[in-house]
Amino acid sequence: MTSTAGTPIAATLIPGDGIGPEIVDATVRVLDALGSPFAWERRSAGMAAMDAAGDPLPAATLDSIRDTRLALKGPLATPVGKGFRSVNVALRKEFMLFANVRPARTLVPGRFEDVDVVLVRENLEGLYVGYEHYIPIGDDPRAVAEAAGIITRHGCRRIAEYAFEYAVSRGRRKVTIVHKANILKALTGLFLEVCQEVGRDYQGRIEVDERIVDNCAMQLVMNPQQFDVILTTNMFGDILSDLIAGLVGGLGLTPGANIGRDAAIFEAVHGSAPDIAGRGIANPTALMLAATMMLEHVGRLDDAGRLRAAITTVLGNREQCTPDLGGRASTSGYADALVAALG
Ligand code: NAD
Repeated sequence: MTSTAGTPIAATLIPGDGIGPEIVDATVRVLDALGSPFAWERRSAGMAAMDAAGDPLPAATLDSIRDTRLALKGPLATPVGKGFRSVNVALRKEFMLFANVRPARTLVPGRFEDVDVVLVRENLEGLYVGYEHYIPIGDDPRAVAEAAGIITRHGCRRIAEYAFEYAVSRGRRKVTIVHKANILKALTGLFLEVCQEVGRDYQGRIEVDERIVDNCAMQLVMNPQQFDVILTTNMFGDILSDLIAGLVGGLGLTPGANIGRDAAIFEAVHGSAPDIAGRGIANPTALMLAATMMLEHVGRLDDAGRLRAAITTVLGNREQCTPDLGGRASTSGYADALVAALG
């Protein structure tokens, strides 16, 4: 999907839960100042939709994404241990969004300089398929919990080809395959085997490396600069991407794209942050960086570059940053500074 200047592009906008509406409003305001091409169809999902209409994923929201094939989404809350299943996972399944791309780059001075890692996570398989149940024993209906992880050769090949093509097209140097094939020999052994197979087709263009996930977690904290593109399974990717966010200043700074053959949904890596919701202090940068990925996705590279440059400029002045980055700006004050930086 590409856009020429001046042509509006229909896109679904989901404000989401918790801090979602605050960061979505700030992002839309900045995109308007940029002159972005998106013509928004505002739809609800998550807890907000459950409360309003009794359905966490209303048909009107699905229909809109089916039409636009493009969405910017605020975080959606999922009840822990009970209640409805994750709407994020349901959206990925519904639109076959098999690739989750989560870039993290040092943008503010912090513990690590020069971190520039892109995590590519398989988004539809593994332990997150949700095949789980309890087994009753005696009078305890939940005496045992059992879960099945599913990984297919097809799914591994699809994500591996995506990751290596991504690496080549972005001029990256190395792909590190992250697994737990020493213990989960079938479940993640197949993932490792197929990713290495695909990697051989890129010999001479992309260096291929592999790491066991626990070692990878430690290496990321000790020496993150050694990593370039990380290719991993669904659950490992979910966990490692929060760890990587911590290396570059926290969850307020890391965006994500969920990519399928027919649709793409852009979001922040973080969740609905209920601890700070409604206080006007959430950092909207992650969602704004997701918007830059969305602009790139539709071919608006200049706009994406302008927005990224404005974000880098504003983050360079700590006073203009939100409290998670040591600043004192509110969400809307930060958006004001960005609008000013865009000129
Ligand atoms: P979280 O990511 O919401 O918050 C973790 C910590 O990071 C909190 O202290 C929070 O205040 C902080 N934080 C997160 N985003 C921030 C921002 N933009 N600015 C400043 N600080 C920020 O994780 P959680 O508390 O474990 O999850 C809360 C809810 O979000 C859960 O219901 C979970 O299921 C959901 N969730 C949704 C998504 C998604 O929609 N893609 C992703 C992760 C979690």
